[in-house]
Amino acid sequence: MTFHPASAPDYLPIPRMRELQLARLRGIVARAFERVPLFRQRMEERGLDPDCLSDLADLARLPFTTKSDLRDTYPFGLFASPMAEVVRLHASSGTTGKPIVVAYTHQDLEVWTSVMLRALAACGVTAGDVVQNAYGYGLFTGGLGAHYGAEALGATVIPISGGNTDRQINVMKDFGVTAICCTPSYFLHLVDRAGELGIDIRSLPLRAGIFGAEPWTDSMRRRIESEGGIRAFDIYGLTEIVGPGVGIECDCQDGLHLFEDHFYPEVIDPETGEVLPAGEEGELVLTTLSKQAMPLIRYRTRDITRLLTEPCPCGRTVRRMTRIARRSDDMLIIRGVNVFPSQIEAALLQVEGTLPHYQIILEREKGLDAMEVQVEVTPQVFSDEVRVLEGLHQRLVKALDHTLGLRVGVRLVAPRTLARSEGKAKRVVDRRES
Ligand SMILES: [Zn+2]
Repeated sequence: MTFHPASAPDYLPIPRMRELQLARLRGIVARAFERVPLFRQRMEERGLDPDCLSDLADLARLPFTTKSDLRDTYPFGLFASPMAEVVRLHASSGTTGKPIVVAYTHQDLEVWTSVMLRALAACGVTAGDVVQNAYGYGLFTGGLGAHYGAEALGATVIPISGGNTDRQINVMKDFGVTAICCTPSYFLHLVDRAGELGIDIRSLPLRAGIFGAEPWTDSMRRRIESEGGIRAFDIYGLTEIVGPGVGIECDCQDGLHLFEDHFYPEVIDPETGEVLPAGEEGELVLTTLSKQAMPLIRYRTRDITRLLTEPCPCGRTVRRMTRIARRSDDMLIIRGVNVFPSQIEAALLQVEGTLPHYQIILEREKGLDAMEVQVEVTPQVFSDEVRVLEGLHQRLVKALDHTLGLRVGVRLVAPRTLARSEGKAKRVVDRRES
């Protein structure tokens, strides 16, 4: 694989990386202390000041930042730069409560572009690739983040944004698209729609997909890779930290490398807040080491992962984390049993005859939680005899029972029954509160 000069920090010797991180950490903590009243107040309550950082482990003494802090200080309360230095705002639509707003200086945008460039380069995208950017453009960070990274890499960018599926397919075919950026569920929708139009995506030059903005499993990856005839890479990011480009899978597809020269990772016990030893699973906490407009110290992502300590065969020295299959606030409690949507996805995709489109419906019946999993079946199965459908139904119930330790309802639905999303798929419909 060709090496892009911007990827040099991916390969820094580890002691050199730790020095760089400590120097940047001291700088960013001092900046936040001077300029962000909430952070200063929390530091002072703990009797801390920026001089308390003599090595990276001292970071564990600092207070956390949470999503509620961003909401409580809406819109600009955590900014560390005057508006005259802020050149971009993004926001995430809050499904509950207020949205959150994030800010970028020129320097912040350069950093974002550089990490997105490194992300795309790690999945083998180069100048000469034609990149269809089907992430939404606008306040959502996905579109512009991928856009500038791909341009800086020298790839040809098609800023098509999300939606208008038939046009997406025509563009993919007519413009010789070789790489696509979107959510994994939207890509599957593109594959299905292309099939209806008589176009087999596997016959097109498309060879790589960079998929993020929603959790997805390895089972889903296998479906995407076989149905799309591509390699599917997982990209990680979040608006609060920068947008997409915090981490990316390399060619080995075994964990996501974190661009830790800019985003310092810790994994904590989500209950106690204690930092866990390397390799243990817990909640990912990130500190922005270079963000000027809105530095976040020890931001609790709610994403559950673990850091891999073994060196990656690709030669990158930046640490990897396992794929985010679940978030601590995604957990569903069904009749006292903890259930994650990713477990359901993995169980469904083990069974032949289903499509990777499903939805989880939660209801309360006579005071008890009831869960029904609706899953689309393939057109072949759907047109088959009733007993074939019955057999499939039984296998699905069994697979879910085995994975979850819980009997749940399964409803087989016709292909293309469930609503498709142009962005993040809505996997869970919880009607228990209403
Ligand atoms: Zn690697």
